[in-house]
Amino acid sequence: MFSYRHAFHAGNHADVLKHTVLIAILKHLIDKDSVMTLLDTHAGAGLYRLDGDYADTSGEAADGILRLTGLLSPTKLPKDLADKLGPNGLAPALKNYLEMVASFNTAGSHKIYPGSPFIIQHLMAGRDRDKLKLFELHPTDAKTLSANVAQLEAGRQVAVLREDGFEGIKKFLPPPTPRALLFCDPSYELKDDYDRVPAMVADAVKRFAVGTYVVWYPIIPRPQAHDLPRKLKTLATKAGKGWLNATLTVKSSKLLTDAEGQTQRPGLPASGMFVINPPHTLKAALQLALPQMAKLLAQDRNAAFTVDAGG
Ligand code: SAM
Repeated sequence: MFSYRHAFHAGNHADVLKHTVLIAILKHLIDKDSVMTLLDTHAGAGLYRLDGDYADTSGEAADGILRLTGLLSPTKLPKDLADKLGPNGLAPALKNYLEMVASFNTAGSHKIYPGSPFIIQHLMAGRDRDKLKLFELHPTDAKTLSANVAQLEAGRQVAVLREDGFEGIKKFLPPPTPRALLFCDPSYELKDDYDRVPAMVADAVKRFAVGTYVVWYPIIPRPQAHDLPRKLKTLATKAGKGWLNATLTVKSSKLLTDAEGQTQRPGLPASGMFVINPPHTLKAALQLALPQMAKLLAQDRNAAFTVDAGG
């Protein structure tokens, strides 16, 4: 059984990156008329409390979303924040992300953080023919997700499946709709995930070549983690598909030594989003948003970003 629970990490720097990119992609795709199938292979619980026990235990949101909430304030920004944004102000992709999180909260409060299922569902609003399939294996999170989704009264538009997302998506690809987006956001708690992700994406691209495939991955000192974006790039290139890889680093990955001389891991220092068949607007949108994200979320001088694309 998994021990990973996303509630400990909700709203951290990795969520800021993944959800900003996801929203930028979906806003572009959803502007179009054709009906979509949306697949979230690792859905989590759907909604998280930033003032709850889990969030308090890790405090990760404090160095993520909670550093950014003031940016939407109608009053003049403090100089240090304004300097980090630069002369053109808040990048549209970051603004869209902050507005999305704000829409789940009453004015000025930051208690609720929406996970990918609720972000996707929010953007589908009014598009009754789109379908969202949410996969979640953890029994507690699957139950919470089902209860959260039930409140939406979305009927058959949104389905929660307590199944392995890597396998479960196969029955929806190719989709019955002209377009599809798959978001794959494992915890990588099981080492197998590093192999299962590219295997699933390769198979999905064969089943539905024009789908948009979006993968989040951690950047940590582990060979499998370094290999993952390389494998995705190779498979996209071999399939003749466009790709985009965006990374955000907030701190050094070097081991830390505490007062007693014990070495400690620094926590997640960086992560990336790899997209196959990205919208043509995505690279420019992230080239504006990621420099701001790196400055605003920096925990030391190693903060940095990259946006590469090809194909
Ligand atoms: N995508 C969510 C979001 O953005 O809000 C967060 C997902 S969290 C990083 C990963 C989730 O995947 C965990 O809730 C975990 O229980 C679940 N999980 C792990 N392995 C899975 C699998 N093979 N199929 C479906 N869910 C899985």
